[in-house]
Amino acid sequence: MFDLNLLIRPNIATLKPYSSARDEYKGKDGTFLDANENPYGNLNRYPDPQQAELKRLLAQKNGVTPKNIFIGNGSDELIDLVFRIFCEPGKDTALTFTPTYGMYTVSAAMNNIELKECPLNNSFDIDLEKALLMIEAFQPKLVFVCSPNNPTGNILDQEAIGTILKSTKGIVIVDEAYIDFSDSPSWTNFLSDYPNIIVSQTFSKARGLAAARVGIGYSSTEIISLLNKVKPPYNVSQLNQDAALMALKNETQFLTNLNAILTEKQKLMHAFDKIDCITKVFPSEGNFILIETKKTEYIFQSLIEKQIITRNRSSLIPNTIRISVGTAKENEELINTLKSL
Ligand code: PMP
Repeated sequence: MFDLNLLIRPNIATLKPYSSARDEYKGKDGTFLDANENPYGNLNRYPDPQQAELKRLLAQKNGVTPKNIFIGNGSDELIDLVFRIFCEPGKDTALTFTPTYGMYTVSAAMNNIELKECPLNNSFDIDLEKALLMIEAFQPKLVFVCSPNNPTGNILDQEAIGTILKSTKGIVIVDEAYIDFSDSPSWTNFLSDYPNIIVSQTFSKARGLAAARVGIGYSSTEIISLLNKVKPPYNVSQLNQDAALMALKNETQFLTNLNAILTEKQKLMHAFDKIDCITKVFPSEGNFILIETKKTEYIFQSLIEKQIITRNRSSLIPNTIRISVGTAKENEELINTLKSL
């Protein structure tokens, strides 16, 4: 049986959060002499610490309430905060499915938490039997599930994720950074079914705002309150909140770019199939494609010489390169270069 109170670190449970000037006076009009701001300039005022307008729009789009939403300085901030809220340094463990996104390991290490790794099977999917054994043995406080997974590109089995959600006493973070590129439904649709789920999304990928650093967490109101309690008061700048709002209001541009990326991805997939040095093209539900190649280091370096920068993922999966989908022109250059190698 899931009991949130048993999971929270005692120092966080009793923590009295910082109360900012903008938390204490919420009105918009007046003479503001409360936050030691500079009265001159355009960016002289602190941003909304609760990101109310952004949450209001996201709530509308996703059929949840603003109280189910956390906004972070990128979704990387959310990953770090869950360790700080739930994991006792040097004592607790977390679990993830490898190969996967590297920040789970780095955040675990920064917080002095052992991250147990459950290897994905040959189809890069969850080995449910092994996962359940590890959950039973280690009682992880956190389970990170990245779906679509980076760097493999596949959606992880939904039923297996559901079983994990029901089997663990810990929090399950479903990282959906790439969900907009996939046909699969988001786990945000099932928030009310699972008291222990946090769905993580980001403006960095399909919304095209990696520079702005805006991440989103969807969860129960109780878990969202904890995230808000520990976050730095002004964790998302007003410039970044405004950028995210503008992106959300421009649905036409979003869909145009999304479709262009998906069409280009199909074109790249077909082209890769016919290129000699590529031995395997992995299916992808993200905006990137993992390929297996002959002479991987040679290919990777040759692309760099032509000023085409990709990611060599051979340290995680032998002989592989991960390639983000670019513009039509960029992809054409890539294909022509790969053909010439
Ligand atoms: N999750 C995954 C799976 C990612 O690949 C990334 C970034 N590459 C992130 C989270 C972090 O995204 P953000 O820019 O929102 O911090």
